[in-house]
Amino acid sequence: MITTDILIIGAGPTGLFAVFEAGLLKLKCHLIDALPQIGGQCSEIYPKKPIYDIPGFPEILAGELTDNLMEQCRQFQPGFTLGERAETMEKQADGTFIVTTNKGTKHQASVVAIAGGLGSFEPRKPPISNISNFEDHGVEYIIKDPEIYRDKNIVIAGGGDSALDWSIFLSKIASKVTLIHRRNEFRGALDSVEKVQELKNKGLVNLVTPAEVTSILGHNHVTGVTVKKSSDSDEEFNLMCDHFIPLFGLSPKLGPIANWGLNIEKKTIEVDTEKFETNQKGIYAVGDICTYPGKLKLILSGFHEGALAARACFKLARPNEKYRFEFTTASKTLKDRLGKK
Ligand SMILES: Cc1cc2nc3c(=O)[nH]c(=O)nc-3n(C[C@H](O)[C@H](O)[C@H](O)COP(=O)(O)OP(=O)(O)OC[C@H]3O[C@@H](n4cnc5c(N)ncnc54)[C@H](O)[C@@H]3O)c2cc1C
Repeated sequence: MITTDILIIGAGPTGLFAVFEAGLLKLKCHLIDALPQIGGQCSEIYPKKPIYDIPGFPEILAGELTDNLMEQCRQFQPGFTLGERAETMEKQADGTFIVTTNKGTKHQASVVAIAGGLGSFEPRKPPISNISNFEDHGVEYIIKDPEIYRDKNIVIAGGGDSALDWSIFLSKIASKVTLIHRRNEFRGALDSVEKVQELKNKGLVNLVTPAEVTSILGHNHVTGVTVKKSSDSDEEFNLMCDHFIPLFGLSPKLGPIANWGLNIEKKTIEVDTEKFETNQKGIYAVGDICTYPGKLKLILSGFHEGALAARACFKLARPNEKYRFEFTTASKTLKDRLGKK
């Protein structure tokens, strides 16, 4: 059981900044995210796009903003459960909450802050009838730890940046990489397409196009895939492999949060604008996932909401302590952490 003061569901920009605001009040945070990395939409959808409306930063790449937010909150030592989706939330008799993920990891906290954005990003799965039998047994939709592919024979499917970038990266550590795409043209960045072509010419990536995987071979674990060439002949053949990694992108779904008894309006959670509390005491919602009159789905709104929610969380998590407002320029907590006078 992981215990913390504030359990934050969602490690996007809102969740990360809320860690900083809570840290100033000496509240410890733990974050859960369904993605294997932090940053939410900024790192999953547009890490290399410049953002122009972060106050004080005339221009900053979304990936850079994520790195900066992590650096800013690192001093408060947040915990992370990444690559797991918060599935159930149960209120205990003592008023605390237990949140369990789809992988069974349990977290206990006196306060829960939902910073779930558009919802958890779920992989788009290819229509292969027996694929669910092999999930986590050789079929992975998200690459969490590239090391598991060292010296392995892998097949990747997809035509976007993710499929191209991972083919390039894994060609350095896997024994064999095959990239299958249903078209001859790829959608990803031109330099990645050229790099894959170069690796193909050097015999380091086996490129099979236009083609699709139609079936998975194996009993308890993937041993190969059946590939259908999209040509007039409809030729089919089997390719032996240890892992099949379909990378067809991720789409956000509100998912399990919809079943937690919260007031939901158009896939967002209703909150007040003083504490950003939901209809359930002790459960807050901030960032893109919350709604109230005038709500703007912007990163700066999430920062503001996180700052106010952190103060409300303090009053709940530390009922016997007095809340004192401090500027960061004068914050003793911050100076102690940073070792400054
Ligand atoms: C292409 C694009 C460009 C944009 N440009 C700008 C811009 O210029 N300026 C601006 O201000 N905004 C911009 N935005 C919007 C901005 O990215 C969002 O407002 C911001 O990401 C919201 O942050 P968040 O932390 O609330 O949610 P998100 O960034 O969506 O993060 C939420 C996280 O919660 C996780 N999550 C959800 N449910 C669960 C669950 N049950 N269990 C575990 N994890 C869960 C998700 O996996 C996700 O990582 C842009 C968005 C896009 C798509």
